[in-house]
Amino acid sequence: MILPIIVYGSPVLRKEATNIEKDYPDLQNIIATLFETMYHAKGVGLAAPQIGLPICLFVIDSEKMEEENSGAIPVKCVFINPEIVEFFGEDTPYNEGCLSVPGINEDIVRKSSVKIWYQDENFVEHETIFTGMPARIIQHEYDHLFGKTFVDKLSPLKKTLLKGKLRDISTGRVETKYKIKV
Ligand code: ZN
Repeated sequence: MILPIIVYGSPVLRKEATNIEKDYPDLQNIIATLFETMYHAKGVGLAAPQIGLPICLFVIDSEKMEEENSGAIPVKCVFINPEIVEFFGEDTPYNEGCLSVPGINEDIVRKSSVKIWYQDENFVEHETIFTGMPARIIQHEYDHLFGKTFVDKLSPLKKTLLKGKLRDISTGRVETKYKIKV
């Protein structure tokens, strides 16, 4: 199922997400919906709060970005109840966007690598190191679970400059190729 993506300004994107158990209702369908909605919107990552569910779950598939950039092997993965245990490597800028903040792309500095603990779609535990594009997407999606978007990382000046655009997004006055919900 493809759902509309909740945009900047909606309270659900500000909520801190909660951990879930294996018996969380309809979980496998929710995961499939996240992937479908993400692919439909041509995204590389999507967090559950972006479809209105404040739970600790996000999916990524870096294929689209790896094609455009490094050519590295893409990572497709489901992260449940994740915890980044270490951020390391170089501070790396990248022109980032977000499906919940359509039409805005800004340079965001993030660490080049993370070590993350998480449970997969079968609740098997992993602790894995990701580097490069997957590490960037993971950090971006992880922020969504704490009620944050990349807009929170911008300088006050930049935020002021984007004020009008952000207001338009929060009231749905923005062109997108996918459905949005304010
Ligand atoms: Zn995002």
